[in-house]
Amino acid sequence: LTERLQNAIGKLRKKGKLTEADVKEVMREIRLALLEADVNFKVVKEFIKTVRERSIGAEVLESLTPAQQIVKIVDEELTKVMGEEATPLNKSPKIPTIIMMVGLQGAGKTTTAAKLANKLKTEENARPMLIAGDIYRPAAIDQLKILGQEIDVPVFALGTDVSPVEIVKQGLAQAKENHNDYVIIDTAGRLQIDETLMNELSDIKDLAQPNEILLTVDAMTGQSAVEVAEGFNGKLDVTGVVLTKLDGDTRGGAALSIRSVTGKPIKFMGQGEKITDLDVFHPDRMASRILGMGDMLSLIEKAQRDYDEEQALAMQEKMRENSFDFNDFLVQMEQVQNMGPMEDIIKMIPGMANNPALKNMNFDPKDLERVKAIIFSMTRQERENPDILNPSRRRRIAAGSGRPIQEVNRMIKQFNQMKDMMKKVSNGNFDGMDQMFGS
Ligand code: GDP
Ligand code: MG
Repeated sequence: LTERLQNAIGKLRKKGKLTEADVKEVMREIRLALLEADVNFKVVKEFIKTVRERSIGAEVLESLTPAQQIVKIVDEELTKVMGEEATPLNKSPKIPTIIMMVGLQGAGKTTTAAKLANKLKTEENARPMLIAGDIYRPAAIDQLKILGQEIDVPVFALGTDVSPVEIVKQGLAQAKENHNDYVIIDTAGRLQIDETLMNELSDIKDLAQPNEILLTVDAMTGQSAVEVAEGFNGKLDVTGVVLTKLDGDTRGGAALSIRSVTGKPIKFMGQGEKITDLDVFHPDRMASRILGMGDMLSLIEKAQRDYDEEQALAMQEKMRENSFDFNDFLVQMEQVQNMGPMEDIIKMIPGMANNPALKNMNFDPKDLERVKAIIFSMTRQERENPDILNPSRRRRIAAGSGRPIQEVNRMIKQFNQMKDMMKKVSNGNFDGMDQMFGS
């Protein structure tokens, strides 16, 4: 556990018996740590709920070593969320076992295809074959060929003029002839999920009937990894996930989210660029790694620093004076932008927790960029006096920011709703800093 969590638990340790308030405090630390590790906020919520329930149960409070009990519960629940046991590769009863790699561009499909071929070759004495099914990037075929040479595994390629489905068809025929026991199909990716690509991948799937469709996801993409996983899984019903770029101290947040959101097992993890940097994914080991994460402490500190009391008070003062303007809004947004899921962060703004208005404010990172673009197109005067934003000003802002006028209107409306809410809260029932981390 990190220093901070250890401190929290250390304090508990001295106490002997725990109260529910003690448990609540530890849960708050864990919650923040997970959010900062890029775990999806819904997953965090569910996770904390389970851990809290178990922790305030007799099991912990009555035990002689409550702190250790909590650590144990957290560790067990993390493991559970990630799937308990390592899940082996699906295998076909008769050769070849067909594995299809899918994922966004740059996720690591081609690299992982070669890593996997190498792993099968060296660990099982297998005779894999690779199929170059990405015909869109000219270098993609060469990349796979070079990797194939490096590991001495045949690569089937027909160039860029033949359709991927045809390439796969001929490749499979050749694999049968050569009695390859594994065929790994590399496919094209895009920068984001698009219809054409999905249809192409569906066609390949229909033709090849793969035993395994491995969705390759870049672990460093954090929150958006979850959307990507949902998108691919919805269309292709993948059979497993490979998390790449989990090198060194990359936070394992995506591992928690993906398994829990898609229900599909993470089978392998890539931990470096070398051909041997592919490992079987063990949920229990990943749990320990997440708990032991070195940067958790600094991240928690960052969250606290950015939301220190002084700043919250200044903001509160602004709300009371009703002088909260677009500049403040921008400052708030920029501060929170890298801190985690928007919905949760907004709740850290005093008075915003449990706020019904939040339900129609769907902040996702892209929205945030759009909102910023709109604010940047306002004049200083407009930012400071949102009330002067008449229709002609709004049209100008829309044109300047390249956003539709409806979006500008909606954003201003949301801003005003938020401001109203803040005013109400600060004039009446603002009940202090507890709201900030409303867990
Ligand atoms: P594709 O577009 O999905 O086929 O992605 P590539 O296989 O071409 O990989 C994109 C980049 O990510 C390459 O530079 C790889 O070397 C790198 N890469 C892939 N997997 C890993 C990994 O596990 N760790 C690191 N550090 N880099 C990786
Ligand atoms: Mg590729």
